[in-house]
Amino acid sequence: MKSVSAPMPSAANFIRNIVEADLAHGRYASRRWAGKPGLGATHAEAAPDAAKIRTRFPPEPNGYLHFGHAKSICLNFGLAEQFGGRCHMRFDDTNPEKEETEYVEAIIGAVRWLGFDWQDDQEDNLYYASDYFPQMLACAEYLIAAGHAYIDSQSAEEMRQNRGTLTEPGRDSPWRNRDVAENQALFRRMRAGEFPDGAHVLRARIDMASPNINLRDPAIYRIRHASHHRTGDAYCVYPMYTFAHPIEDALENVTHSICTLEFEDQRPFYDWLLERLAEGGLFLRPLPRQYEFSRLNLTYVLLSKRKLIQLVEERHVSGWDDPRMPTLVGARRRGYAPQGFRLLMERIGVSKSDSLIDYGLLEDCMREVMNEMDERRIAVLDPVKLVITNYPEGQKETCRAPNHPLKPELGKRDLPFAREVWIERDDFREVSEKGYNRLYPGNLARLKYAYVVKCAGCEKDAEGKVTTVFCEYLPDTLSGTPGADSVKVKGNLHWVAVDAAHAAEVRLYDRLFAVSAPGAGEKDFSEDLNPDSCKRVVAQLEPSLKDAEPERRFQFERHGYFAVDPKDSRPGSPIFNRAVTLRDSWGSGRQT
Ligand code: ATP
Ligand code: MG
Repeated sequence: MKSVSAPMPSAANFIRNIVEADLAHGRYASRRWAGKPGLGATHAEAAPDAAKIRTRFPPEPNGYLHFGHAKSICLNFGLAEQFGGRCHMRFDDTNPEKEETEYVEAIIGAVRWLGFDWQDDQEDNLYYASDYFPQMLACAEYLIAAGHAYIDSQSAEEMRQNRGTLTEPGRDSPWRNRDVAENQALFRRMRAGEFPDGAHVLRARIDMASPNINLRDPAIYRIRHASHHRTGDAYCVYPMYTFAHPIEDALENVTHSICTLEFEDQRPFYDWLLERLAEGGLFLRPLPRQYEFSRLNLTYVLLSKRKLIQLVEERHVSGWDDPRMPTLVGARRRGYAPQGFRLLMERIGVSKSDSLIDYGLLEDCMREVMNEMDERRIAVLDPVKLVITNYPEGQKETCRAPNHPLKPELGKRDLPFAREVWIERDDFREVSEKGYNRLYPGNLARLKYAYVVKCAGCEKDAEGKVTTVFCEYLPDTLSGTPGADSVKVKGNLHWVAVDAAHAAEVRLYDRLFAVSAPGAGEKDFSEDLNPDSCKRVVAQLEPSLKDAEPERRFQFERHGYFAVDPKDSRPGSPIFNRAVTLRDSWGSGRQT
C-alpha cells in the first residue's frame, strides 16, 4: 500500500479508516481500468488499475460552489492524494433543465484554486455524466429484459397515492406485470419521442411494501422534452438522479462514493441497482460503495445554493463573487487562502453526526496559514497627520522593515521617513486612560522601524476633530542602531511618510450576517443582514503597495490580512479587501 502522509494534523475521519481497512484487505486489488470510463466489458481485459482507490467530486453545474462543497472536495481529493488514488472531477449534468455551461468553468476554477487536480501525464479524469446516457440506456434495457423494470403508465398523482406512507405499504401499479416485450416496445417509443412528458415512466421493480420508501419501485427514467446543455435534443428521456449516480460511479471504477447524509436512505437502492447490473454482466465486481458523512454547517453564513441565489437576486450582495459571499469565488476575491480551507477541513474531521462549526474557526485557520505565508506591509487605515517638529524640514531618510519577521530570507524593504507621517487616528488621545500607552501629551512611543517620539499635543478643527498631532523625536533611538534600546517604550506604532504614501480604497469586510443562525425560526434571513458588513475607507499605504498585483495578499501590520481586489483594481491603483482581522474582534467593540 502506497501511502503519502497527510500534510496536516488529522482529526477523526471515519472514511479514512474505511479506506485504510479496504486497502489492508486488498478489497480493490483486482480492479482493472481501461483508461476511460465504461461498462464492465471495457475494463475486463485492461491492465490492473494503478489507482489504489477512486473517488469523485460530482457537482451539478447549476450554481457556484460554496464552502460546504469545499469540504467534499477536500475529502474526496484528499483521500485520493493520501492513498495513491485518483479523484475524478465529474459534472453531474443528467438533469436537462437546470444546468448551465457558465457554471462548469467556475467550478473547474474553484477546485483548481483549492489546489486539486484530476489531470496529469497519465490520466485526465474530467467527466460529464451526460456522456454516459448511452450506457445508462443500456442499463435500463437490461433491467427491462431481466424483468427488473417496467413501464408504469399511471399519472404522477396515482403513483403518489399508491406509494404508501412510512407506516403503510404501497400498492402495486396495475402496469407492474406488463410483459417484457411490451415494456421494451414502450420504452423504445418513449425514446423515440412518441409520448408527452409524464405519459409513462420507467420504474425499477423491487418491492412496493418495503419499509424503505426509496425501494418502492423507484422511477429510473422519465420523459422530458427538453434541450440539454451538452446533448442538445438527442434525447427526450432522462435518467433519475438516484439511477444515474451509481451507474456513473461504476462506469468510472469509483471505489468509495462519498456523499452527504441525506442520501443514506438511497444506499439500499444504490446497492440493489449495481448488484442487478453486475448479475447481468454489465459491471464487474468489486462494485463501488456509498458512504455518507455530515455536511458542513457554519455559523453566520448560509450554505444552500437556493438561498445564495436569493442573496444575489435581491441584491444584498454585488454578485456570486462578492467578497462576503460564502462561495469559493467570493472567498478567492476576498483574499481567503485555499490552504486555510484545507486546514479547516482537516481540523473539523469527517463524521456522521450533524455539527455546526463556528465561523471563528474558519477565520482562525485563515489567520494561521496567512501569518505563515504573507509578507508584511504598512497601511494606515484611518489616517491623521503627525508632525515631528524637531525633524528638519526637507530631510529624508530610509528605514528598513523586514518582509516577514519569521522568514529573514524574504529580505527587507525601504520605508521612506520624513518630518510628516500618517499615523492611525486611534494611536493618539488627548487624555490618556489606563492601559493606553500610545501617543498622548507627554508620553513616549516608538514609530516602528524608526525613532522614539515624545508627544507634544495636537491641533483641532472647528468641530473639535484632531487634524494634526505634534511630537519630537529622540535622534539616538533609530531602530537597528545601538541606541535603539536606550529608551524603553510600550507603544509601537506604524506610520507612512506623507510625501511617499499612496492613498487607496480599502474595503473593510465583516460578516454578512449579524447573527449566528441567519433566518432561524420564521424570519426572512434578510432581516439578519449585518448593516456594517462592508465599510470603505481611504487609507494611506506604504509606497511599495502601489504596484501590488491582483489577488496578492499581505498582512497589514496591526490590522490583518488584505488582498488586492482582482475586479475593481487598476494597474498602479489597487483596491484592497480585508480578508480577516489579526485577532478575533467579532462582537467586542470591533477594531478596524
Ligand atoms: P446545495 O444543497 O447547496 O444546493 P448540492 O448538494 O445540491 O448543494 P451539488 O452540486 O449536488 O450541490 O454537490 C456536489 C457535492 O458537494 C455533493 O457530493 C454534495 O454532497 C457535496 N456538498 C454540498 N453541500 C455540502 C456541504 N454543506 N457539506 C459537505 N458537502 C457538501
Ligand atoms: Mg444537488
